[in-house]
Amino acid sequence: MGGLGVVVTESKGGKTSDYQLTLAVKSGKFSATRFYNQQLTENRVDFAGWVWDRLVIPKHRFVYWQLLNSLLLTRDKLVRIMPIHDIRCPVCELKEESHDHVLFDCLFAKHVINHIWSWLGQVTWPTSISDLCDRCFLARHDIQNRMINAVDAATFYLIWQNRNNCLFNLFCSSPRRISQDV
Ligand SMILES: [Zn+2]
Repeated sequence: MGGLGVVVTESKGGKTSDYQLTLAVKSGKFSATRFYNQQLTENRVDFAGWVWDRLVIPKHRFVYWQLLNSLLLTRDKLVRIMPIHDIRCPVCELKEESHDHVLFDCLFAKHVINHIWSWLGQVTWPTSISDLCDRCFLARHDIQNRMINAVDAATFYLIWQNRNNCLFNLFCSSPRRISQDV
């Protein structure tokens, strides 16, 4: 799983040195795979430690990872690859569905967060995916922040699950129920 904390961002440009070619040789044979891999640079993703934190429930981690990378298949993304006649949010049916909308701006998500505040206390809740990423970068990895992070992951997981239920099963939960499940 730790390997998922690394994202390949770019390849080194410029001239190939003899040294690089030498590194790609194993047991006297040139390996194209080794050569390719050594051309890549890797950046550690700031939020990896938060997603794979042991306090985050394993089944929440994948959705959390997907949303932090803006990889959930929201309708604003789907419409770019296939025809969709209605790109509105399937939960509120008021605005175009995007990551920021369904997880932060949607009236349903806001009601869920209000219910969570009632037992968690008034922690400042992220307002967008980029805000959430910034917090992962800036926050201290102490027990209080780790617990809030686990609540964030559970909340986003359940909001996304509810969105899928609205879309595929024509069933919408209540914000109070989601808060209780968190
Ligand atoms: Zn909505």
